[in-house]
Amino acid sequence: MTTPHRAPGGFPVVGVIGAGQLARMMVGPAAELGVTLSILAESATASAALVTPSAPVGAHDDLRAVLDFARHCDVVTFDHEHVPGPVLEALAVAGTVLHPSPAALVHAQDKLVMRERLTDLGIRCPRWARARTRADVVAFAGQVGWPVVAKTPRGGYDGKGVVLAQRPEDLADWLAAVGSDGPLRDGILLEERVDFRRELAAIVARSPSGQAAAWPVTQTVQTDGVCTQAIGPAPDLDPGLAATVTEAALRVAGALDVTGVLAVELFEVVDTAGSPSYVVNELAMRPHNSGHWTMDGAVTGQFEQHLRAVLDLPLGDPRPRQRYAVMANVLGGQDEELYSAYRHVMARDPGAKVHLYGKQVQPGRKIGHVTVCGSDLAELVERAEHAAGYLRGTIRE
Ligand code: ADP
Repeated sequence: MTTPHRAPGGFPVVGVIGAGQLARMMVGPAAELGVTLSILAESATASAALVTPSAPVGAHDDLRAVLDFARHCDVVTFDHEHVPGPVLEALAVAGTVLHPSPAALVHAQDKLVMRERLTDLGIRCPRWARARTRADVVAFAGQVGWPVVAKTPRGGYDGKGVVLAQRPEDLADWLAAVGSDGPLRDGILLEERVDFRRELAAIVARSPSGQAAAWPVTQTVQTDGVCTQAIGPAPDLDPGLAATVTEAALRVAGALDVTGVLAVELFEVVDTAGSPSYVVNELAMRPHNSGHWTMDGAVTGQFEQHLRAVLDLPLGDPRPRQRYAVMANVLGGQDEELYSAYRHVMARDPGAKVHLYGKQVQPGRKIGHVTVCGSDLAELVERAEHAAGYLRGTIRE
């Protein structure tokens, strides 16, 4: 494996396992900070590998490849949460500095572990249960009513691994897999179906020495389980609820000893007294799609902040630069030729910040995002959605 070229002056090398778009979006901030990135890439054409001089190819679950990669890094962080526990443990034994640590990361890897811990911490969650048998499912639905939301504790993303079950039979396949080696080894996570007003994310960063910084709470829109839009700060959010969820996210970061960016995905609900409240959906311990707006919309974006945090550098100012930032995801359409649409979008709206990830276009795949900042929310939403729709090929004029 080639050794990454270290910048002179005592600057560290940050290793990132996984070469998806999140690793790619760390490349610009790393260059600006003067820090060298080395990225363990799933392939030479993976999103981040295309823009990083040091991107050795190796799988995140190949122990030898990961250990060899980590030897050349001062600190190692992640593009995703799929590195298996035994690989993380071996890295820790080998003396690799991991941020977040395996003990923290497990709460983003395993939704049952996360639910247990958050419940112990007194953080509000949907009513939930672990189900191993049909009888467990029937008993839980007896308490919360049908339908129930069923989740694979491990390996889910973008709504894959989430099922709205109307009756026990809907979970027959999953129940049959419980106990066998796989994502359902320890059972199925069942949750009540939350009647939420909207989805929010409280995104914070925390460094190993305990400094923390919080961006304003973000509103997110999920379509078919995939994030399609985010607005920061969340419009018309009750200030008391904003403070409560930010405090909850900082408390989770501290209690779990999270290092780097932590995104706490939330549902805004109305409590029995009619007041705005929240329940936590899930945790991500890395820069998160809901925080992409901070790249253009905040003094310090989440990718720069993640690097500062994992290096235990002083954190940057998370405050927004303008009243609102609206981010729309660009999902792949039918048309594989993007470049002419890209030129059109730039010409039509010079204020739109277009971020593309160098990924092969496939229908529904996240291939980029667009952010616009300003104060007229309706206009910003229209501009962001127009640009994203044009790049996807669903808008033609
Ligand atoms: P993933 O890990 O795939 O992102 P999530 O647990 O975030 O899965 O669920 C995906 C989406 O499904 C959420 O963004 C939300 O829209 C919906 N969802 C998840 N859990 C619930 C729930 N308990 N009640 C209602 N909707 C839910």
